[in-house]
Amino acid sequence: MEKWPLGVFASSDAGLGVKLEVAHELGVPTIQLHAPAKATRTPEHARRFLDRLATMGIRITAVFGGFEGESYADIPTVTRTVGLVPPATRAERTREMKEIADFARLLGVDVVALHLGFVPHDSGDPLYREVLGVTRDICDHCRAQGQALHLETGQEPADALLRFIGDTERNNLFINFDPANMILYGSGQPIEALEQLGRYVRSVHCKDAKWAARVGQEWGSEVALGDGDVNMELYLRTLDKIGYHGPLTIEREIPQDPVRQKAEIGRALKLLRDVKSRLKAEG
Ligand code: MG
Repeated sequence: MEKWPLGVFASSDAGLGVKLEVAHELGVPTIQLHAPAKATRTPEHARRFLDRLATMGIRITAVFGGFEGESYADIPTVTRTVGLVPPATRAERTREMKEIADFARLLGVDVVALHLGFVPHDSGDPLYREVLGVTRDICDHCRAQGQALHLETGQEPADALLRFIGDTERNNLFINFDPANMILYGSGQPIEALEQLGRYVRSVHCKDAKWAARVGQEWGSEVALGDGDVNMELYLRTLDKIGYHGPLTIEREIPQDPVRQKAEIGRALKLLRDVKSRLKAEG
């Protein structure tokens, strides 16, 4: 397989990411798919969707779970609404995550991913044990059908994430590394975190952000790739160093402005192609 095939975060009928048509117009060979709405997670839709992707020459590298009621408005809202941490929705979302994994299987995709939400950093917290329990449950469901589960980074510092993964005692739990999230949430220097998490990183987002004035108290700001504090060349060099050669999936979450979103992803593709060829020329 080609080293570092380019991709975008996309959706078909629900959720975050660009529309499939946009991914096609941008000419990318891969996407990560945000899980479609429940009504369309059927074998018939999966078949039709795969036919459509085949005509576009696009391959799905991961299916991302997302849930009704999640909001990334600010850090307290993320804590309250995102992933499997909020107790009121946990059982229902765990069930839905398994259904999403089943749909990914219909699509022939062996990676499912999600934002767990804010896992308590204190492993003595009862909430920590509860989140560990549902994560194991989903891992086991995935493993029975030959799938891995990837956790999106951001909310946890690298050492807390490593401890959590170790505590699950599951061998199909890995990381979808997002360097911008480390900055947005203020959970650590992204390049250092990437080196630390290295062996668990099995998919990545290419996204950029600027640090907040009060790191960890307020959001940093997501910006176009290359305009933020990640340093994309160093990011790719570090991915090379840890031996990650899988897809580079561009994520740009400005759904309110699809014209700008497409233009910025277009520039991001050019930037990544340039860095790739520079690194290739160095050998
Ligand atoms: Mg991301």
